[in-house]
Amino acid sequence: MSLLKIELLGADVLRQKAVDVPTPGPELDRLVADMFETMYEARGIGLAAPQIGLSQRLIVVDVKEDGHAPMALLNPVVAEFRGRQEKYEEGCLSIPGISGHVDRPEACVVDALDQQGNPVRIEADGMLARCLQHEIDHLDGILFLDRLSPIKRNMLLKKYRKLAKED
Ligand SMILES: [Zn+2]
Repeated sequence: MSLLKIELLGADVLRQKAVDVPTPGPELDRLVADMFETMYEARGIGLAAPQIGLSQRLIVVDVKEDGHAPMALLNPVVAEFRGRQEKYEEGCLSIPGISGHVDRPEACVVDALDQQGNPVRIEADGMLARCLQHEIDHLDGILFLDRLSPIKRNMLLKKYRKLAKED
């Protein structure tokens, strides 16, 4: 396995709508293993393929909660949003050092293919629902910053640029 380079805010691939759905097989298995390793190394709970420079509809998620095994999903789509809007703090491996409170539905149903290409339906709430929505957003070129008010977004962008300069 090997660590992959995580693309940061400003990279075009983070703003593209991914259209390709990966094909199950040994190549995908290797990619998924590398994505998990990269995510764990960066102490994240989710990673989408565009974040490692691949414009493909693929995400890996491990919220490390009881009852939720790590999962790799191909072509995930939110089939249904459920529950109330909830605010919760989110960060992103592609925008390190900043976080913001994002409003999202508290639960959702996600349809996808598993790593072997079999259809799966996931009824998620709590952290898993949030993480899935955040990662699926990445496949459409959407970042959590886009879901904040313009004032909050600009504040965080300023902070991010300052942090980036100090590095
Ligand atoms: Zn992210």
